[in-house]
Amino acid sequence: MISVEEALEKILSYVDLLGHEKKPILNCLGQVLAEDVYSTIDIPPLDNSAMDGYAVRAEDTCGASESSLKELAVVGEVAAGSMPGEEVKPGTAIRIMTGAPLPEGADAVVRFEDTDEVDRKLTQGNLSRIGIFSWVEKGLNVRYKGEDVAAGELVLKKGDLLRPSQIGLLASLGRCTALVIRRPIVAVLATGDELIGPDQPLPLGKIHDSNTYAIAAQIVRYGGIPKILGIGRDSIRVLTEKINEGLDADMLITSGGVSQGDYDVVKDVLRKHGEIALWTICMKPGKPSAFGVLSKTEGGIKKRVPHLGLPGNPVSSMVTFEQFARPAILKMMGKKNLVKPSIQAIIEDNVENSDRRRMFARVMVTKRGGQYRARLTGPQGSGILTSMGKANGLAIIPENTKGVMTGDIVKVQMLDWNEDELLEE
Ligand code: AMP
Ligand code: MG
Repeated sequence: MISVEEALEKILSYVDLLGHEKKPILNCLGQVLAEDVYSTIDIPPLDNSAMDGYAVRAEDTCGASESSLKELAVVGEVAAGSMPGEEVKPGTAIRIMTGAPLPEGADAVVRFEDTDEVDRKLTQGNLSRIGIFSWVEKGLNVRYKGEDVAAGELVLKKGDLLRPSQIGLLASLGRCTALVIRRPIVAVLATGDELIGPDQPLPLGKIHDSNTYAIAAQIVRYGGIPKILGIGRDSIRVLTEKINEGLDADMLITSGGVSQGDYDVVKDVLRKHGEIALWTICMKPGKPSAFGVLSKTEGGIKKRVPHLGLPGNPVSSMVTFEQFARPAILKMMGKKNLVKPSIQAIIEDNVENSDRRRMFARVMVTKRGGQYRARLTGPQGSGILTSMGKANGLAIIPENTKGVMTGDIVKVQMLDWNEDELLEE
Protein backbone atom coordinates (compact mmCIF):
# COMPACT_ATOMS: atom_id res chain seq x y z
CA MET A 1 0.00 0.00 0.00
CA ILE A 2 1.39 3.44 -0.85
CA SER A 3 0.58 6.69 0.94
CA VAL A 4 -1.48 9.50 -0.56
CA GLU A 5 1.70 11.64 -0.62
CA GLU A 6 3.76 9.00 -2.44
CA ALA A 7 1.02 8.52 -5.03
CA LEU A 8 0.72 12.28 -5.58
CA GLU A 9 4.49 12.74 -5.88
CA LYS A 10 4.71 9.99 -8.49
CA ILE A 11 1.81 11.39 -10.50
CA LEU A 12 3.17 14.94 -10.43
CA SER A 13 6.59 13.72 -11.57
CA TYR A 14 4.95 12.67 -14.85
CA VAL A 15 2.99 15.88 -15.33
CA ASP A 16 4.58 18.80 -17.18
CA LEU A 17 3.82 22.50 -17.48
CA LEU A 18 1.92 23.14 -20.71
CA GLY A 19 2.78 25.66 -23.40
CA HIS A 20 1.22 29.10 -23.71
CA GLU A 21 -1.45 30.78 -25.80
CA LYS A 22 -2.46 34.38 -26.52
CA LYS A 23 -6.10 35.02 -25.69
CA PRO A 24 -8.63 37.81 -25.13
CA ILE A 25 -8.34 38.82 -21.48
CA LEU A 26 -11.96 37.92 -20.72
CA ASN A 27 -11.18 34.29 -21.47
CA CYS A 28 -8.12 34.20 -19.22
CA LEU A 29 -9.78 34.03 -15.80
CA GLY A 30 -8.02 31.48 -13.60
CA GLN A 31 -5.07 31.06 -15.98
CA VAL A 32 -1.44 31.82 -15.23
CA LEU A 33 0.41 34.61 -17.04
CA ALA A 34 3.23 33.51 -19.31
CA GLU A 35 4.66 37.02 -19.78
CA ASP A 36 5.81 39.98 -17.71
CA VAL A 37 3.45 42.92 -18.19
CA TYR A 38 4.88 46.45 -18.06
CA SER A 39 2.76 49.56 -18.16
CA THR A 40 3.22 52.03 -20.99
CA ILE A 41 1.02 54.59 -19.24
CA ASP A 42 0.53 56.30 -15.88
CA ILE A 43 -2.59 55.33 -13.93
CA PRO A 44 -4.25 57.63 -13.24
CA PRO A 45 -3.00 59.51 -16.29
CA LEU A 46 -3.52 62.93 -14.63
CA ASP A 47 -3.96 64.36 -11.13
CA ASN A 48 -7.71 64.15 -10.53
CA SER A 49 -10.42 64.51 -7.93
CA ALA A 50 -11.40 61.68 -5.57
CA MET A 51 -14.66 63.45 -4.64
CA ASP A 52 -17.45 65.56 -6.04
CA GLY A 53 -16.68 69.05 -4.72
CA TYR A 54 -14.69 72.19 -5.38
CA ALA A 55 -11.09 72.31 -6.59
CA VAL A 56 -9.35 75.00 -4.54
CA ARG A 57 -5.97 76.30 -3.46
CA ALA A 58 -5.63 74.84 0.04
CA GLU A 59 -4.21 78.10 1.37
CA ASP A 60 -7.48 79.85 0.44
CA THR A 61 -9.32 77.71 3.00
CA CYS A 62 -7.01 78.72 5.83
CA GLY A 63 -9.12 79.20 9.00
CA ALA A 64 -12.40 78.11 7.36
CA SER A 65 -14.93 76.50 9.73
CA GLU A 66 -18.69 76.05 10.18
CA SER A 67 -18.82 79.42 11.95
CA SER A 68 -16.43 81.19 9.63
CA LEU A 69 -17.01 80.50 5.97
CA LYS A 70 -14.39 81.36 3.35
CA GLU A 71 -16.04 82.55 0.19
CA LEU A 72 -14.52 81.83 -3.20
CA ALA A 73 -15.58 82.83 -6.72
CA VAL A 74 -16.61 79.83 -8.82
CA VAL A 75 -14.93 80.21 -12.20
CA GLY A 76 -15.97 76.99 -13.89
CA GLU A 77 -16.95 73.36 -13.71
CA VAL A 78 -15.21 70.19 -14.82
CA ALA A 79 -16.74 66.74 -15.25
CA ALA A 80 -14.99 63.38 -15.52
CA GLY A 81 -13.89 62.84 -19.09
CA SER A 82 -13.28 66.51 -19.95
CA MET A 83 -10.36 68.85 -19.36
CA PRO A 84 -10.68 71.98 -17.18
CA GLY A 85 -11.05 75.17 -19.20
CA GLU A 86 -9.77 77.51 -16.48
CA GLU A 87 -7.06 77.76 -13.87
CA VAL A 88 -7.77 78.11 -10.14
CA LYS A 89 -6.30 81.47 -9.20
CA PRO A 90 -6.16 82.78 -5.61
CA GLY A 91 -9.68 83.40 -4.30
CA THR A 92 -11.37 81.14 -6.84
CA ALA A 93 -12.65 77.57 -7.08
CA ILE A 94 -13.81 75.21 -9.82
CA ARG A 95 -16.74 72.84 -9.30
CA ILE A 96 -15.34 69.36 -9.95
CA MET A 97 -16.69 65.80 -10.23
CA THR A 98 -15.03 62.57 -9.11
CA GLY A 99 -12.43 61.48 -11.65
CA ALA A 100 -12.22 64.88 -13.37
CA PRO A 101 -8.70 66.24 -13.94
CA LEU A 102 -7.53 68.71 -11.30
CA PRO A 103 -7.34 72.22 -12.80
CA GLU A 104 -4.06 74.12 -12.90
CA GLY A 105 -3.46 76.03 -9.68
CA ALA A 106 -5.70 73.81 -7.53
CA ASP A 107 -4.04 71.55 -4.96
CA ALA A 108 -7.03 70.21 -2.97
CA VAL A 109 -10.70 69.38 -3.33
CA VAL A 110 -13.35 70.39 -0.78
CA ARG A 111 -16.26 67.95 -0.93
CA PHE A 112 -19.77 69.33 -1.49
CA GLU A 113 -20.72 68.44 2.10
CA ASP A 114 -18.13 70.93 3.39
CA THR A 115 -19.61 73.81 1.40
CA ASP A 116 -22.82 75.81 1.53
CA GLU A 117 -23.78 74.63 -1.97
CA VAL A 118 -27.23 73.30 -1.05
CA ASP A 119 -28.24 76.49 0.85
CA ARG A 120 -26.87 78.71 -1.83
CA LYS A 121 -28.80 76.91 -4.59
CA LEU A 122 -32.01 77.41 -2.56
CA THR A 123 -31.46 80.98 -1.48
CA GLN A 124 -29.54 82.49 -4.38
CA GLY A 125 -30.31 80.14 -7.25
CA ASN A 126 -26.81 80.30 -8.62
CA LEU A 127 -23.35 79.09 -7.78
CA SER A 128 -21.22 82.01 -8.87
CA ARG A 129 -19.68 81.99 -5.39
CA ILE A 130 -19.27 79.21 -2.85
CA GLY A 131 -18.79 79.21 0.91
CA ILE A 132 -16.22 76.74 2.23
CA PHE A 133 -16.40 75.66 5.86
CA SER A 134 -13.57 73.23 6.06
CA TRP A 135 -9.89 74.12 6.37
CA VAL A 136 -8.27 71.62 4.02
CA GLU A 137 -4.69 70.57 3.56
CA LYS A 138 -2.85 70.41 0.27
CA GLY A 139 -3.54 67.10 -1.44
CA LEU A 140 -6.88 66.42 0.26
CA ASN A 141 -9.14 64.37 -2.06
CA VAL A 142 -6.56 64.51 -4.85
CA ARG A 143 -5.47 61.33 -6.67
CA TYR A 144 -2.06 61.90 -8.18
CA LYS A 145 -0.92 60.98 -11.67
CA GLY A 146 0.76 57.55 -11.63
CA GLU A 147 -0.06 56.89 -7.97
CA ASP A 148 -1.53 53.47 -8.84
CA VAL A 149 0.79 52.53 -11.71
CA ALA A 150 3.72 54.49 -13.13
CA ALA A 151 4.65 54.25 -16.81
CA GLY A 152 7.40 51.66 -17.25
CA GLU A 153 6.47 49.78 -14.08
CA LEU A 154 6.31 45.96 -13.98
CA VAL A 155 2.66 45.45 -13.08
CA LEU A 156 2.11 41.70 -13.46
CA LYS A 157 4.72 38.97 -13.55
CA LYS A 158 5.07 35.69 -15.41
CA GLY A 159 3.49 33.13 -13.12
CA ASP A 160 0.83 35.46 -11.69
CA LEU A 161 -2.64 34.02 -11.50
CA LEU A 162 -5.26 36.01 -13.40
CA ARG A 163 -8.11 36.73 -11.02
CA PRO A 164 -10.82 39.32 -11.75
CA SER A 165 -8.65 42.17 -10.40
CA GLN A 166 -5.74 41.21 -12.69
CA ILE A 167 -8.11 41.05 -15.68
CA GLY A 168 -9.29 44.56 -14.77
CA LEU A 169 -5.71 45.71 -14.36
CA LEU A 170 -4.79 44.42 -17.83
CA ALA A 171 -7.74 46.35 -19.27
CA SER A 172 -6.69 49.50 -17.39
CA LEU A 173 -3.27 49.18 -19.04
CA GLY A 174 -4.97 49.07 -22.43
CA ARG A 175 -4.34 45.38 -22.99
CA CYS A 176 -7.01 43.30 -24.76
CA THR A 177 -5.06 40.04 -24.88
CA ALA A 178 -2.61 38.24 -22.64
CA LEU A 179 -0.15 35.39 -22.99
CA VAL A 180 -1.17 32.61 -20.59
CA ILE A 181 -0.34 28.97 -19.94
CA ARG A 182 -2.98 27.03 -21.80
CA ARG A 183 -5.65 24.94 -20.15
CA PRO A 184 -5.14 21.17 -20.23
CA ILE A 185 -7.43 19.01 -22.30
CA VAL A 186 -8.38 16.08 -20.11
CA ALA A 187 -9.96 13.04 -21.74
CA VAL A 188 -12.58 11.26 -19.64
CA LEU A 189 -13.46 7.61 -20.16
CA ALA A 190 -15.97 5.64 -18.10
CA THR A 191 -15.55 1.88 -18.18
CA GLY A 192 -18.07 -0.79 -17.36
CA ASP A 193 -20.62 -2.97 -19.15
CA GLU A 194 -23.29 -1.87 -16.69
CA LEU A 195 -23.14 1.79 -17.72
CA ILE A 196 -25.56 3.65 -19.88
CA GLY A 197 -25.81 7.38 -20.69
CA PRO A 198 -28.16 9.55 -18.63
CA ASP A 199 -30.13 10.26 -21.81
CA GLN A 200 -31.13 6.59 -22.14
CA PRO A 201 -33.92 4.67 -20.38
CA LEU A 202 -32.55 2.28 -17.82
CA PRO A 203 -32.76 -1.41 -18.72
CA LEU A 204 -32.71 -3.87 -15.84
CA GLY A 205 -29.18 -4.44 -14.61
CA LYS A 206 -27.78 -1.15 -15.90
CA ILE A 207 -26.97 2.13 -14.14
CA HIS A 208 -26.48 5.61 -15.49
CA ASP A 209 -22.91 6.73 -16.01
CA SER A 210 -22.53 9.54 -13.48
CA ASN A 211 -18.75 9.56 -13.20
CA THR A 212 -18.19 11.03 -16.66
CA TYR A 213 -20.30 14.01 -15.67
CA ALA A 214 -18.95 14.53 -12.17
CA ILE A 215 -15.36 14.19 -13.42
CA ALA A 216 -15.96 16.53 -16.37
CA ALA A 217 -17.44 19.09 -13.97
CA GLN A 218 -14.42 18.76 -11.67
CA ILE A 219 -12.10 19.25 -14.65
CA VAL A 220 -13.95 22.44 -15.60
CA ARG A 221 -13.94 23.67 -12.01
CA TYR A 222 -10.17 23.42 -11.79
CA GLY A 223 -9.55 25.01 -15.16
CA GLY A 224 -9.23 22.08 -17.58
CA ILE A 225 -11.18 21.32 -20.73
CA PRO A 226 -12.89 17.93 -20.61
CA LYS A 227 -12.92 15.73 -23.68
CA ILE A 228 -15.64 13.15 -23.14
CA LEU A 229 -14.77 9.79 -24.66
CA GLY A 230 -18.00 8.13 -23.48
CA ILE A 231 -18.39 4.66 -22.11
CA GLY A 232 -15.78 2.02 -22.81
CA ARG A 233 -17.28 -1.43 -22.69
CA ASP A 234 -15.15 -4.02 -20.95
CA SER A 235 -13.73 -5.29 -24.25
CA ILE A 236 -10.23 -4.93 -25.66
CA ARG A 237 -11.39 -3.58 -29.00
CA VAL A 238 -13.70 -0.86 -27.65
CA LEU A 239 -11.30 0.23 -24.96
CA THR A 240 -8.37 0.40 -27.39
CA GLU A 241 -10.39 2.59 -29.72
CA LYS A 242 -11.50 4.92 -26.93
CA ILE A 243 -8.04 5.19 -25.42
CA ASN A 244 -6.58 6.05 -28.82
CA GLU A 245 -9.06 8.93 -29.04
CA GLY A 246 -7.81 10.12 -25.66
CA LEU A 247 -4.21 10.29 -26.79
CA ASP A 248 -4.61 13.81 -28.22
CA ALA A 249 -5.40 15.04 -24.74
CA ASP A 250 -2.90 16.23 -22.14
CA MET A 251 -4.13 13.69 -19.62
CA LEU A 252 -6.49 10.74 -19.62
CA ILE A 253 -8.78 9.96 -16.72
CA THR A 254 -10.60 6.67 -16.65
CA SER A 255 -13.07 5.58 -14.03
CA GLY A 256 -13.84 2.05 -13.02
CA GLY A 257 -12.17 -1.20 -13.81
CA VAL A 258 -9.31 -0.82 -11.36
CA SER A 259 -10.49 -3.19 -8.67
CA GLN A 260 -9.27 -6.78 -8.68
CA GLY A 261 -12.31 -8.20 -10.47
CA ASP A 262 -12.46 -6.45 -13.78
CA TYR A 263 -9.24 -4.61 -14.27
CA ASP A 264 -7.64 -7.13 -16.59
CA VAL A 265 -9.10 -5.76 -19.80
CA VAL A 266 -8.26 -2.15 -19.05
CA LYS A 267 -4.83 -3.16 -17.84
CA ASP A 268 -4.02 -5.14 -21.00
CA VAL A 269 -5.10 -2.27 -23.21
CA LEU A 270 -3.18 0.32 -21.24
CA ARG A 271 -0.05 -1.81 -21.09
CA LYS A 272 -0.03 -2.02 -24.89
CA HIS A 273 0.16 1.79 -25.05
CA GLY A 274 2.62 2.51 -22.31
CA GLU A 275 3.48 1.87 -18.69
CA ILE A 276 0.98 1.17 -16.00
CA ALA A 277 1.14 0.84 -12.25
CA LEU A 278 -1.68 -0.59 -10.22
CA TRP A 279 -1.82 1.01 -6.86
CA THR A 280 -3.36 0.27 -3.57
CA ILE A 281 -3.43 3.68 -1.95
CA CYS A 282 -3.74 3.98 1.81
CA MET A 283 -6.96 5.96 1.61
CA LYS A 284 -10.67 5.48 1.97
CA PRO A 285 -12.54 5.81 -0.26
CA GLY A 286 -10.26 5.27 -3.24
CA LYS A 287 -8.01 2.38 -2.30
CA PRO A 288 -7.76 0.77 -5.74
CA SER A 289 -6.46 3.29 -8.22
CA ALA A 290 -4.10 3.09 -11.16
CA PHE A 291 -1.58 5.34 -12.73
CA GLY A 292 -0.01 4.97 -16.10
CA VAL A 293 1.75 6.81 -18.85
CA LEU A 294 0.57 6.38 -22.41
CA SER A 295 2.82 7.16 -25.33
CA LYS A 296 1.92 8.96 -28.51
CA THR A 297 3.92 10.30 -31.40
CA GLU A 298 3.10 13.84 -32.46
CA GLY A 299 4.94 15.41 -35.40
CA GLY A 300 7.64 12.76 -35.10
CA ILE A 301 8.10 13.54 -31.40
CA LYS A 302 7.26 10.95 -28.81
CA LYS A 303 5.03 12.37 -26.11
CA ARG A 304 3.68 10.88 -22.95
CA VAL A 305 0.15 11.26 -21.74
CA PRO A 306 -0.34 10.65 -18.03
CA HIS A 307 -3.25 8.37 -17.24
CA LEU A 308 -5.13 8.40 -13.95
CA GLY A 309 -7.27 5.35 -13.37
CA LEU A 310 -9.83 6.37 -10.77
CA PRO A 311 -12.01 3.82 -9.00
CA GLY A 312 -15.54 3.33 -10.31
CA ASN A 313 -17.56 4.08 -7.24
CA PRO A 314 -18.87 7.62 -7.70
CA VAL A 315 -17.61 9.00 -4.39
CA SER A 316 -14.23 7.25 -4.68
CA SER A 317 -13.85 8.72 -8.13
CA MET A 318 -14.60 12.25 -6.92
CA VAL A 319 -12.41 12.02 -3.82
CA THR A 320 -9.42 10.59 -5.70
CA PHE A 321 -9.92 13.25 -8.35
CA GLU A 322 -9.59 15.94 -5.67
CA GLN A 323 -6.42 14.36 -4.28
CA PHE A 324 -4.60 13.51 -7.53
CA ALA A 325 -6.23 14.90 -10.68
CA ARG A 326 -6.77 18.39 -9.28
CA PRO A 327 -3.09 18.98 -8.43
CA ALA A 328 -2.07 17.48 -11.79
CA ILE A 329 -4.33 19.90 -13.67
CA LEU A 330 -3.11 22.83 -11.58
CA LYS A 331 0.53 21.88 -12.21
CA MET A 332 -0.05 21.70 -15.97
CA MET A 333 -1.59 25.18 -15.81
CA GLY A 334 1.43 26.61 -14.02
CA LYS A 335 -0.27 27.19 -10.67
CA LYS A 336 2.05 27.42 -7.69
CA ASN A 337 -0.24 26.27 -4.95
CA LEU A 338 -1.40 22.72 -5.54
CA VAL A 339 -2.63 22.11 -2.01
CA LYS A 340 -6.35 21.94 -1.41
CA PRO A 341 -7.38 24.65 1.09
CA SER A 342 -8.17 23.22 4.50
CA ILE A 343 -9.34 24.38 7.91
CA GLN A 344 -9.35 22.97 11.42
CA ALA A 345 -12.80 22.07 12.66
CA ILE A 346 -14.43 20.46 15.66
CA ILE A 347 -15.98 17.17 14.54
CA GLU A 348 -19.49 16.63 15.86
CA ASP A 349 -19.77 12.88 15.22
CA ASN A 350 -17.77 9.85 16.19
CA VAL A 351 -16.05 8.55 13.09
CA GLU A 352 -14.60 5.07 13.18
CA ASN A 353 -11.60 4.28 11.01
CA SER A 354 -11.71 0.48 11.08
CA ASP A 355 -9.04 -0.35 8.51
CA ARG A 356 -6.52 2.34 9.36
CA ARG A 357 -6.39 4.05 6.00
CA ARG A 358 -6.56 7.83 5.60
CA MET A 359 -10.24 8.46 5.61
CA PHE A 360 -11.89 11.31 3.76
CA ALA A 361 -15.24 11.72 5.50
CA ARG A 362 -17.97 13.75 3.84
CA VAL A 363 -18.90 16.62 6.13
CA MET A 364 -20.80 19.86 6.18
CA VAL A 365 -18.75 22.61 7.80
CA THR A 366 -20.53 25.51 9.46
CA LYS A 367 -19.26 28.25 11.73
CA ARG A 368 -20.72 28.57 15.21
CA GLY A 369 -19.40 30.41 18.22
CA GLY A 370 -16.46 31.59 16.13
CA GLN A 371 -15.39 28.01 15.39
CA TYR A 372 -15.71 25.73 12.42
CA ARG A 373 -17.75 22.62 13.15
CA ALA A 374 -17.98 19.57 10.90
CA ARG A 375 -20.89 17.12 10.77
CA LEU A 376 -21.09 13.93 8.72
CA THR A 377 -23.55 14.36 5.87
CA GLY A 378 -24.87 10.82 5.95
CA PRO A 379 -23.84 7.27 5.12
CA GLN A 380 -20.23 7.08 4.02
CA GLY A 381 -20.44 4.21 1.52
CA SER A 382 -18.32 4.93 -1.55
CA GLY A 383 -21.34 4.55 -3.83
CA ILE A 384 -23.48 7.08 -1.95
CA LEU A 385 -23.25 10.22 -4.02
CA THR A 386 -26.04 12.04 -2.14
CA SER A 387 -23.87 12.41 0.98
CA MET A 388 -21.13 13.86 -1.24
CA GLY A 389 -23.70 16.28 -2.62
CA LYS A 390 -24.55 17.50 0.87
CA ALA A 391 -20.89 17.93 1.86
CA ASN A 392 -18.82 21.09 1.57
CA GLY A 393 -15.69 19.44 2.92
CA LEU A 394 -13.76 16.22 3.44
CA ALA A 395 -12.68 15.65 7.02
CA ILE A 396 -9.35 13.86 7.10
CA ILE A 397 -9.20 11.06 9.65
CA PRO A 398 -5.52 10.14 9.80
CA GLU A 399 -4.32 6.64 8.96
CA ASN A 400 -3.09 4.64 11.92
CA THR A 401 -5.83 6.00 14.16
CA LYS A 402 -8.94 4.14 15.20
CA GLY A 403 -11.00 7.17 14.37
CA VAL A 404 -12.06 10.42 15.99
CA MET A 405 -14.57 11.24 18.71
CA THR A 406 -17.09 14.06 18.91
CA GLY A 407 -15.27 17.20 19.99
CA ASP A 408 -11.91 16.26 18.44
CA ILE A 409 -10.21 18.73 16.15
CA VAL A 410 -9.87 17.50 12.57
CA LYS A 411 -8.42 18.90 9.41
CA VAL A 412 -11.07 19.46 6.76
CA GLN A 413 -10.29 19.91 3.08
CA MET A 414 -12.81 22.39 1.77
CA LEU A 415 -14.56 21.28 -1.41
CA ASP A 416 -16.56 24.48 -1.55
CA TRP A 417 -16.22 27.73 0.25
CA ASN A 418 -19.80 28.81 0.31
CA GLU A 419 -20.09 31.84 2.55
CA ASP A 420 -23.81 31.23 3.15
CA GLU A 421 -23.12 27.81 4.62
CA LEU A 422 -20.24 29.05 6.72
CA LEU A 423 -22.14 31.96 8.24
CA GLU A 424 -22.35 32.01 12.02
CA GLU A 425 -25.59 30.38 13.12
P1 AMP B 1 -15.44 -0.80 -10.70
O1 AMP B 1 -14.36 0.06 -10.13
O2 AMP B 1 -15.46 -0.79 -12.18
O3 AMP B 1 -15.41 -2.16 -10.11
O4 AMP B 1 -16.80 -0.14 -10.23
C1 AMP B 1 -17.14 0.00 -8.88
C2 AMP B 1 -18.56 0.44 -8.73
O5 AMP B 1 -18.74 1.70 -9.32
C3 AMP B 1 -19.56 -0.48 -9.44
O6 AMP B 1 -20.70 -0.59 -8.63
C4 AMP B 1 -19.86 0.26 -10.70
O7 AMP B 1 -21.11 -0.05 -11.21
C5 AMP B 1 -19.77 1.69 -10.26
N1 AMP B 1 -19.40 2.53 -11.40
C6 AMP B 1 -18.35 2.33 -12.22
N2 AMP B 1 -18.28 3.28 -13.15
C7 AMP B 1 -19.31 4.13 -12.93
C8 AMP B 1 -19.77 5.31 -13.57
N3 AMP B 1 -19.15 5.79 -14.63
N4 AMP B 1 -20.87 5.92 -13.06
C9 AMP B 1 -21.50 5.41 -11.99
N5 AMP B 1 -21.10 4.32 -11.33
C10 AMP B 1 -20.03 3.66 -11.79
MG1 MG C 1 -16.30 -1.95 -13.71
